[in-house]
Amino acid sequence: MAYITTSLFELFKVGPGPSSSHTIGPMKAACQFMETTRELDTKILNKADMVEVRLFGSLSATGMGHGTRRAVISGLLGNHPESCHPDVLDELDHDPDQEYQLDLGPRKLTFIGNEVIFDAVQHDYPYSNTMIFRLMGNGETLFEQEYYSIGGGFIRWKGWKETQRGEPEFKYANMAELKKHLVMSGLRLHELMLRNEMAITGLSEEEINEKLDNIIMVMERSVEKGIQTEGVLPGPIGLRRKAKTLYDKAKKAHFQGPGFLKGLNAYAMGASEENAAGHCIVTAPTAGAAGVIPGLVFILKRHMSALSHEIREGLMASAAIGFLAKNNASISGAEVGCQGEVGVASSMGAAMMAYARGYRFQVTENAAEIALEHHLGLTCDPVGGYVQIPCIERNAMGAVKAYNAYLIASSVDAAYQMVDLDKVIKAMAETGRDMSQKYKETSQGGLALSVTEC
Ligand code: SF4
Repeated sequence: MAYITTSLFELFKVGPGPSSSHTIGPMKAACQFMETTRELDTKILNKADMVEVRLFGSLSATGMGHGTRRAVISGLLGNHPESCHPDVLDELDHDPDQEYQLDLGPRKLTFIGNEVIFDAVQHDYPYSNTMIFRLMGNGETLFEQEYYSIGGGFIRWKGWKETQRGEPEFKYANMAELKKHLVMSGLRLHELMLRNEMAITGLSEEEINEKLDNIIMVMERSVEKGIQTEGVLPGPIGLRRKAKTLYDKAKKAHFQGPGFLKGLNAYAMGASEENAAGHCIVTAPTAGAAGVIPGLVFILKRHMSALSHEIREGLMASAAIGFLAKNNASISGAEVGCQGEVGVASSMGAAMMAYARGYRFQVTENAAEIALEHHLGLTCDPVGGYVQIPCIERNAMGAVKAYNAYLIASSVDAAYQMVDLDKVIKAMAETGRDMSQKYKETSQGGLALSVTEC
């Protein structure tokens, strides 16, 4: 089994919502395609008269609702997710016949929005979310790249090979191996994660802490903006934002009793509503699940007086859970349903809560296990292909379950836990494999159908 070489900043990425698989991944792919294209021989570039983009799988089924076309256009225009201002995206793709000028290096090429084609949902490519980018000339393909959006904003392409990166100091592929390293080294979980991050990326401890602080700041901003904004979210559903109302009620109750839960719901929904609006969020581990961990960060900081370093350390502990889920199952709704998105976010959030509150490792693992166990089988069926229903309230539920999992794990003897995290991740992978394609981000089953039919 391959050991984990993912960086913290591949898991926690700043970018536009509403779906990392459908916006961040395609934007990256489009940007990379243009960079590679510009390196082609000038003779080839001079023959080009169009760029064609074909989207497959759930990118085709729900790409329209997820803003995939505008993400692709934005990437073709040279925008990177982490630096792309949401206002830029808001301005794109109002009209599918709109023309854009792509930079081919020696010349410009006109691109029309509807040259992004929503192709087959069922296909034989190796990954569900496949994209074919073609540079065409006189009806012939001059250059073609096949990309895959594999969840959480990660991309691969045909012929992809793992890029050269440092070897982790502590190699592990599952929780059992990670635990052995912790016992043998005497390190705390966040210390081990930090040492691995330094070895993999070559970044210093200060640089990693700075980047983590930036991630936490973007998370907080997404919550703050969400709990201050009212109105209707973009798209045909006409869904009203609710976070501000919940927040106002929580405040009125001084965050006491039900007011505390209302506050947690408001925070998670606030960030999730910002994601649905296509604004800047942090994938945690995906954009669809971008409300859970920020909601809990807000609780830790504003209501539990957690210090900055405790939140950073909790975030590193949560990343360990995200890495394990990604390595041994999936964090993509298109691969395993929502258990891999909100389920994993909840599990990561529970681990963060326990760790940031100073509980020892076994409590952290148990909290993560409990939260994930009670998301097993959760399908992905976004209504109309928009990351709104059930996604926004689901983020609130994921945050509440994470908090509850933390309470259970920290209240009982850790040794009583019968199920370990590796087992529940294995169960998630198997459940995902058995799940009908209808329930994997295609909007062809479940709530997506019943709500449409009403
Ligand atoms: S249902 Fe879950 S996995 Fe599917 S789009 Fe919504 S948040 Fe993502």
